[in-house]
Amino acid sequence: VEEPIHDAVLGRATERGGTPALVDGVDGTTLTYEQLDRFHRLLAAAFADAGVRKGDVLALHSPNTIAFPTVFYAATRAGASVTTVHPLATPEEFAKQLRDSAAAWIVTVSPLLDTARAAAELAGGIREIFVCDQAPGHRSLIDLLATTAPEPRIHIDPVADVAALPYSSGTTGIPKGVMLTHRSIATNLAQLVPSMPLGPGDRILAVLPFFHIYGLTALMNAPLRQGATVVVLPRFELDTFLAAIEKHRINVLFVAPPIVLALAKHPAVAQYDLSSLKHVISSAAPLDAKLAQACSQRLGLPPIGQGYGMTELSPCTHLVPLNTPDAPPGTVGRLIAGTEMRIVSLDDPDKELGVGEAGEIAIRGPQVMKGYLGRPDATAAMIDPDGWLHTGDVGHVDAEGWLFVVDRVKELIKYKGFQVAPAELEALLLTHAGIADAAVIGVYNEDHNEVPHAYVVRQPSAPDLSEGEVMMYVAERVAPYKRVRAVTFIEGVPRAASGKILRRELRGRS
Ligand code: ATP
Ligand code: MG
Repeated sequence: VEEPIHDAVLGRATERGGTPALVDGVDGTTLTYEQLDRFHRLLAAAFADAGVRKGDVLALHSPNTIAFPTVFYAATRAGASVTTVHPLATPEEFAKQLRDSAAAWIVTVSPLLDTARAAAELAGGIREIFVCDQAPGHRSLIDLLATTAPEPRIHIDPVADVAALPYSSGTTGIPKGVMLTHRSIATNLAQLVPSMPLGPGDRILAVLPFFHIYGLTALMNAPLRQGATVVVLPRFELDTFLAAIEKHRINVLFVAPPIVLALAKHPAVAQYDLSSLKHVISSAAPLDAKLAQACSQRLGLPPIGQGYGMTELSPCTHLVPLNTPDAPPGTVGRLIAGTEMRIVSLDDPDKELGVGEAGEIAIRGPQVMKGYLGRPDATAAMIDPDGWLHTGDVGHVDAEGWLFVVDRVKELIKYKGFQVAPAELEALLLTHAGIADAAVIGVYNEDHNEVPHAYVVRQPSAPDLSEGEVMMYVAERVAPYKRVRAVTFIEGVPRAASGKILRRELRGRS
C-alpha cells in the first residue's frame, strides 16, 4: 500500500459522515467520521503553523481518549513521526524516550501535565507542550482547532518515512524505538482486513491502550479504516469494562489473556448482560486453549480467535479469521497474505524445520520494521541480510498452516537438557479452582539446575491453598522434568500494559 497512514485510514471518512467513529465509554461524547476527518485536517494545519515540520517527532502522551486518533493522524499529516508514550511513565522514563527519539513536541492531557513538564525539562529540546483538554499556559486542542492556517501539503514517501515510533514493551530488556513506515503500517492493515471484516454496524471496545501497537492497530486503525464505531475506555477496570459492553452493545472485543482470564473466572461477569458480544479475539501473550474454551463457553460465544505479532512487525503476521469455528484450539492463526514465515532450528538459524517441529519463528514481508531507531547493532541482530526477522518466539506449524506459539526463546527453562515453557505451566496452574492467577520463571537451585518456580495468586475462596498442594497438582499432570519445584504466593502478577507477564520483575523478588 503506497499511501500515508492517515489517508489509508480516513480515505472514506467524509462519505461515512454522521456515523459515530469514536464514543467516550464513560460520558458518551461522540465524534463522527466527518468530525474526525475535519478535525484532524485542522489540527494538522495548526501543528504546521506552530512549527511542526516533516521528520519531527511528536510524543503522544495520553490514556485512551476520543481525541487520541485525531492527534495521531493530524501529526502524521503534518509530516511528523508519532512516538506514543505510556501514560504511567515516570518523568525519567518519559525523558529517556524523548531523548532517544529526539522528540520536539509533546501532546498530553491535563492530569499528566506535571509529568510531561518534568520530562521535557529533563530531556531538553522540546519546543511546545500541547494539552488535549485544558490547562493554563498551554495551547489546547480547542485553541488549535480554531486555526485559520491552510492545510499543509507535505510530500510523504510511504516507503521511507516513519509514521510511528512505538517503543517495544520492554518485556525482555530495555524498550527500543521501533521505526514503522507509513507503508508497513498501511500494508499490514490491508493484510488484516480480509480476515477481520468489520463495518458500520460493529461496535469495538478500546480498553487496551492505543499507545501500544496492538491497540493502535486493532482498536484504532483497523476499525476506523472500516467504518466501525470505537467505544473508548481510559483503562481496564473490570466493572466499568463489563458495564461498557452492556451499555454500548459491544459486539467485537480485542483483548489480551488477562481479560480472557477475568471473563472466564471472575464472579462479577455474571452480573452483566453481555449478550451483544459476537466475537472475542486475544493477542499479545500466550493464551491457553482450555482457558479460551472456558471463556467462550461461559459467554456462549464461538471459539476465541487469536492473533500473533510484535511491535517490530507493524504488528501482525498471523490471525484466526473471524468465523472460523474449525480452527484448532490454541492456534494463534494462519499467515496473512503477502508475508513469508519459516520455523528455524534454535541451534542453527539457517536450518528450516518441517511440520510439527518447534523452532524459532522467522518472518519476511512488507510489515517488517525499518529498524530500531539509532541501534544498528540491535537491528542487525534481529533482521538477517536476507530480510528475515527473527522473532525470538518458539513455535510450530501444523499441516494446514496453523501456527502455535510455545513461548519466547529466552523464557524457556532448561532443565537437565529438557526445555520447559513457562506458559504451559502457567496455563496448567490456572486450571486449579483455587488459583486466580499465576506466573512461572526459571531459577537456579542449589544443584545449579534451572527449575520452574511458580508465583501464585490465591482465589479469595481458597485462602489456605498450600505450596505442597500446588506442587502436587502440577506433578500429577506433567512429565517429571516439568515439575514446579518452588511456590511463592503473591498478591498480583506484574504485567505490562499489553497484558504480558513481567517475569523480570518476579526475578527481582526471588
Ligand atoms: P520487548 O521486545 O521490549 O522485550 P515485547 O516483546 O513484549 O517487549 P511486544 O512487541 O509488545 O513487545 O510483544 C511482542 C511479543 O508478544 C511477541 O514476540 C510474542 O512473544 C508475544 N505474543 C504476541 N502475540 C502472541 C500470542 N498470540 N501468543 C503468544 N505470544 C504472543
Ligand atoms: Mg519483543
